[in-house]
Amino acid sequence: AALENSELYQRMGDLASHDTLTTLFTKRFFLEKLRETCSRSRRQGKSFSLLMADIDFFKKYNDRFGHAAGDIVLRKISQLIGGSLKEENSVACRFGGEEFCVILAGVGKKEGYKSAESLRALIESEKIILRRQETGVTVSIGVAEFPGDAGEEDELMRLADKAMYQAKERGRNQVCCF
Ligand code: GH3
Ligand code: MG
Ligand code: MG
Repeated sequence: AALENSELYQRMGDLASHDTLTTLFTKRFFLEKLRETCSRSRRQGKSFSLLMADIDFFKKYNDRFGHAAGDIVLRKISQLIGGSLKEENSVACRFGGEEFCVILAGVGKKEGYKSAESLRALIESEKIILRRQETGVTVSIGVAEFPGDAGEEDELMRLADKAMYQAKERGRNQVCCF
């Protein structure tokens, strides 16, 4: 029965719209929202920006301060990302371990880049006190615009991801777009 319960719980978790650690939306829910946002934007002839953010050298942070401290950081970063959303219909999710995706509804590339840069600076300035020691992390962010960069969701995700990797390559703690 315990095994059955844990399997059931696992499946319910897969279907859930919120990530348990961070309370941000799940990847699955986010991808649904992305599809919806593409359709709506197409209908209304509006653009939106997709942000992909990944914490820099997070493995090192975990190694140095411990996994539990890493979890605190993930919650803190999630609060900052969730709290930064202004537009109605904007959505933030935990896409994977230490990776986050954001839809900025009705926001074009220039403004999307500016918002990403504000978020990057906000995260850089956030200090987490551990055993009376100041710690912190930075993020690299890729930005892609619908429909300017891509007119459908898979290509948009691919470009935001590519831009994020470019931000990593260029030295991390920065925002890139094409
Ligand atoms: P990069 O700057 O290239 O992104 O380096 P990185 O170390 O962040 O990248 P990498 O993909 O090598 O490591 C990601 C790390 O994120 C590894 C894993 O321990 C950590 N991580 C993923 N999910 C969680 C989590 O839920 N909690 C904690 N504490 N750490 C996590
Ligand atoms: Mg990663
Ligand atoms: Mg990382």
